[in-house]
Formats: sequence, structure tokens, C-alpha cells
Amino acid sequence: VASNGFSGVPPRDKYLGGLLAAGFDERSCLSRYYSGVYRKPSPYKPSRYLVQKLRTYEERHRRCAPHTAAYNRTLPFLKAGASVPEEEVECKYALWTPWSGLGNRILTLASTFLYALLTDRVLLIDPGKDMPGLFCEPFRDTTWLLPPGFPISDFEAFYRSHPQSYANLLKSEKISNDGARGKAPPPFVYIHLGDDYQTEDMYFFCEKDQAVLRKVPWLFLRSDLYFVPGLFLNQEFEPELSRMFPEKETVFHHLGRYLFHPTNKVWGMITTYYRAYMAAAGERLGIQIRVFSAEDSPFELVSEQVINCTLKEKLLPEVDGDASIIDSMTDDPKMTKTVLITSLHSGYAEKVKDMYWEHPAAGGVVVSVHQPTHEERQQTDDAGHDAKAWAEMNLLSLADVLVTSAWSTFGYVAQGLGGIRPWVLFRAVKGVMPDPICEREASLEPCYHAPTTYVCREKKDGDNGNVVHFITRCRDATSGIKLV
Ligand code: GDP
Repeated sequence: VASNGFSGVPPRDKYLGGLLAAGFDERSCLSRYYSGVYRKPSPYKPSRYLVQKLRTYEERHRRCAPHTAAYNRTLPFLKAGASVPEEEVECKYALWTPWSGLGNRILTLASTFLYALLTDRVLLIDPGKDMPGLFCEPFRDTTWLLPPGFPISDFEAFYRSHPQSYANLLKSEKISNDGARGKAPPPFVYIHLGDDYQTEDMYFFCEKDQAVLRKVPWLFLRSDLYFVPGLFLNQEFEPELSRMFPEKETVFHHLGRYLFHPTNKVWGMITTYYRAYMAAAGERLGIQIRVFSAEDSPFELVSEQVINCTLKEKLLPEVDGDASIIDSMTDDPKMTKTVLITSLHSGYAEKVKDMYWEHPAAGGVVVSVHQPTHEERQQTDDAGHDAKAWAEMNLLSLADVLVTSAWSTFGYVAQGLGGIRPWVLFRAVKGVMPDPICEREASLEPCYHAPTTYVCREKKDGDNGNVVHFITRCRDATSGIKLV
């Protein structure tokens, strides 16, 4: 194969079981159809219903995209802040803007897209500083990028306290959710789903509030959370969601593979690295190390945790103190293991390398260890930095076995795209080694870290981790909930 996978010979499952539509220009985005050259086929197949929903969605997106007649008709109402008469609302939109790190962005974008699928809206995105440099257009013959000149541009100004947030519109009685036939809703409502949201913001997930929002042509959702489990809590959405995703733990797996295709530039980085350091190995182990606080998780502790976890779970071979070099010689490629370590910090790869240099691995396994970058600190919105982060998430997703860090959306993206249930390194507190140090994840799904605490069906605050059997508490982030 050519280094980017594009050899004219398509991979076996080019359209990922119908998830991807045919007919895109292949050269403009090689990763879309050729990621299967590198990635193992997924054991999870998208349902026929999901595939049908996606094709219908794509058609709607083309009909309602920027600069179409339907789109242009909504703009004057938006500019004037005037209610749109119902007969004029041909297309409705869900607008997304980048917020927080790249992992968070990918998860909130997938969540917003699912909401658009459910509510017959069209997803448009604020390109921010570098979205088009990272991701190909996901929908054929159209664009998801909000064009310049859109009446609202200062998306950063929208926050919890914004007067146009759903919560604040309810409080100021500019919108009503009590079933009374009030005046027509405004053309634009801001949905604040940040981790600091208030109870009235959380009403977003409730059935009667969705009935109100259904009439609003433009919804602007801003979130730093994977809020998909919240949609499953809505009793009107749930049957539809369960039809789309009979295997509930595959929501992000399928939506992620459908939406997020690295641009040729990033795909070049991924394939070059993969071919140089990962392709030849008999087995590939990805280890994602995310340190949220150096005080809680000092370097020596995390190194020890990584090594002890991988040895205990037999993901890496034991070192053999007695073996001589003669016993451990092998040319069998199956006996080689590549370890890909991703982290903002250097040093971890050296720890593992040193271990196997000083003592051969038991059974003659040859271990090679690689870390593509150590950027030292998060530099979100720097194009080069974000490209590396996106490339590394993809490289991790190409591993056979994964170890990830608790709480990290970066790791969730890798596990979801790869369809791999990882071993999770639990978070240390105040420099104390967690016990257990790591554990196998129960589901592929990302964790919804700060879930809505309003239980719609009980009309009061409560614990949404107990309401339905397919949503449970996250092991890696105990405040969170996830689909299983
Ligand atoms: P989270 O904070 O772990 O949930 O993940 P996010 O992706 O939302 O934010 C962390 C950001 O820090 C990433 O997007 C990268 O910009 C950077 N970062 C964290 N870990 C790594 C890493 O292993 N490699 C690279 N290249 N960047 C990283």
C-alpha cells in the first residue's frame, strides 16, 4: 500500500457496514475510505435503522445548508429577533462551537449531532481556529461550516448567565414550559450544557421542554460534556435511540467513525508514524497517560502505576532476570510488541525502555517503545499542536490493546474510534497510589462527567445513575454516568 493507504485497492469494508455514504471524492480525504487499511474491522455493525437515519439526515443537510433558500429565509428573523411563523420553518438547526480541549470537542460535537438526528435538525459548526484543518467535511456535497457573516458571531459571550439561555428565558418568562399556549418562541435559544449548568438548563433533557424547543428554529448548544446519556434519559427519545443503537455502548463508536475523518495532512502524520513504528509488530499496545495534577500524580508514581498495571494485567511481558541474551534471541515478528505511549510529558517511554534494556523480556519477546510527542502543556487552538493531538488519538485507536487514563476525554475518543475496551489507570489523589491501580472498562462509551441531576420523570433533583438499567455510574469518574 501507498503510505497513506491509498493504493487504488480499497479496504474490505470501505463503507464501514453502510455507515459511510459512497460518492465522496476519495483523494480530498483519504482517511474516509482508507482507514480500514490500518484499522481492524469493527466487531460492531451499525444498525440498518441508523444507516437509514444517516442517509435521510444527509439529504436534509443538503437541502438546508448555508446559502440554500431555506437557510436564507430564517436569517432575517434571526437578525430581528422575531418569532418565525410555523409555516415558515422549513429547516431547523443545531449550532455547535468549539469549547475546551480537542477530546471534549469531539465528544460534544458527536452529542450535538445525535441531538440533531433525533430532532430533525441540521448540524452547523463554528469553525473556530482550526476545525477545518483537522476534520474533513462529513456530509457529501455540502458543508457543515457556519459561513462568515452569520448574524451571531461572538459565541464566547454565551455562558451560563446569558439572558438567551433556556434557563434564563424560563426564569424571565420569555418562554414557557407549562403547556400554556403562550406567545411563539424566539428564533434562537442558547442551550448551556457546561459542567456548571443550573437546574433549569438541565430541563433541556425533559420531554415537555423538548416540546417547547421543537418550535425554535435555531438552537445553539454549548457544552464541554458528552451528554448522550442524558438524551437516553428522555422517554420520548429513548425508543428511537434504542432502534438506532441496539448495542448501547456503540453510540460514540459509530458516530465517531461516521463524523471524524482526519484531513490529508493529519492522515499523513498518522500513516507515516504507523508505518515507521507500529506496522511491523506482532502486537500493538497503546498507553495514554494524562496527568491532571502533578501534585496528585507525580512522575515517579505514574511511571510505577503504568508499569505495575501493564505487568499485572499481562499486557507487557515480565522481565526475566536470569535469561541470557542467547535464550532471548528471536526473529519471529509475532514475538515483537510495540508500545505507543502518548503524553504531554516526556520520561514515561524511557522508564519502560530502560526496564527491557537492562533485563530481557520473559519468553524472548522484543519490546519497542515509542512516544510521538511531548508537548509539555495543552495548547488548544494552536493548529500544529491540535494536529498532533488528533493524530495521536488516531494512533492509539489503531492499537490492539489500550491502557487509558481515568477522566480523560482524549482517551475516550481513542477507545471509541478503535472499538477497544481499555484498561483504565485510576486517578491518584495526593500522591497516593490508587487501589486498584487499574481495571478493565465495562463499556466502550465515554463517560458523561457532570450529568444532569434533574430527574425528569420524578420532577425533582436526584441520581440519574439509577433511573434506567442501561445507564450506570462511571468507574473512572464516580460523579459521572455512562451507557453500558
Ligand atoms: P482531557 O483534558 O484529557 O479530557 O482531553 P482534551 O483532549 O479535551 O484536552 C487535553 C488537551 O491536551 C488535548 O486536546 C491536547 O491538546 C493536549 N494533550 C493531552 N494529552 C496529550 C497527549 O498525549 N498528546 C498530545 N499531543 N496532546 C495531548
